[in-house]
Amino acid sequence: VTLGVPKETTETENRVALVPDVARQLIGRGMEVRMQPGAGAGAFFADGDYHDVRMVEEREDLYREADVLLKVQPPSLEEIDLLGPETAVLGLLDPLGSPERVSRLRDRGVTAFAMELVPRVARAQAMDALSSQASIAGYKAALMAADLAPRFFPMLTTAAGTVRPAKVLVLGAGVAGLQAIATSHRLGASVSAYDVRPETKDQVASLGATFLELGVGASAEGGYARELTEEEKRQEQELLADRIADMDVVISTAAVPGRKAPILVREADVTAMRPGSVIVDLAAETGGNCECTQAGETVRHEGVLVYGPRNVPGRLPVHASEMYARNLANFLDLLVRDGQWAPDWEDEVVAQTVLTREGSVVPETVRERVE
Ligand code: NAD
Repeated sequence: VTLGVPKETTETENRVALVPDVARQLIGRGMEVRMQPGAGAGAFFADGDYHDVRMVEEREDLYREADVLLKVQPPSLEEIDLLGPETAVLGLLDPLGSPERVSRLRDRGVTAFAMELVPRVARAQAMDALSSQASIAGYKAALMAADLAPRFFPMLTTAAGTVRPAKVLVLGAGVAGLQAIATSHRLGASVSAYDVRPETKDQVASLGATFLELGVGASAEGGYARELTEEEKRQEQELLADRIADMDVVISTAAVPGRKAPILVREADVTAMRPGSVIVDLAAETGGNCECTQAGETVRHEGVLVYGPRNVPGRLPVHASEMYARNLANFLDLLVRDGQWAPDWEDEVVAQTVLTREGSVVPETVRERVE
């Protein structure tokens, strides 16, 4: 099997799908690796770091010759058109967000695997790119909040007086939220957190944070939250409002797979916060958890800074690429045996991760969105 690793075409993407260590392992497992020169540069990996990898100057050649293309961002329509029908693609393909791309992959006859679809079962943890990238996003969100805040996170006792710790509220205690809690706590903030899944309570407490009991519970299948009803949404917003007003920092990470992010912080709640308070909204790309969020922007709303960063894992490209590359390599183990393409289609992890195959869109949830 020949693996192809192009330079990511999304201009702001610094991650790369393969890092030198993982390339070496894959070559050791009988695969051949070809890359576009400079593919690793955004993550500070030089072409020379990739031993025994052939650099292919022409993107067209790389795409045509690859049996399996390894991507971070979804391929553009133009990239898809460079792929032969025998090609497989692995990447974060945004299966629910871009029907046009999914139908192009289907029509091209490409076998596409969307890493977002890896089931959240114990056996697949080492392939779970959503988790690896979310933990990076959560860590970085806490640092961004600390950086934007006009105050300290830790308590300080100094000759110039005592500083009370910042009050940080983390909304959504999934993978990103838990990392934001841990990082804020390490910086010395006084952290509280809230999630609609009551089972997160113990995890929040074990990180030294206080869980807010609001009495709204909404666990669903596969460890995810379900979308709240209109009445529950209103109730949740009302109950959160008082808590938010008392915070110096809110880091929001709430998400429901395939849906627009839930609004947890209304404009009035931002207005009620003290000037100098900060909101970092990790859900910005899916609509935001805060009504004032504008993706990619820092908005100043009556003295409160509301930041909605895009592609946060891409801001830590070294470790984001390393972790992502390992996720891909572990998944490739299910697709390649003795260096040959031999996916086990009966394997539930393979079966659930495949997005398009033999001219069809495989997951029903995606198929109903695609023409
Ligand atoms: P996610 O990114 O889909 O959502 C982030 C968080 O937002 C979730 O905790 C969710 O409950 C919460 N949320 C949704 N709507 C909300 C609302 N209205 N108000 C407040 N919070 C809201 O989730 P995720 O981080 O990808 O992970 C979700 C779950 O999957 C977690 O339980 C995690 O432990 C589990 N998981 C399991 C495995 C595994 O077993 N292999 C791997 C990764 C994650």
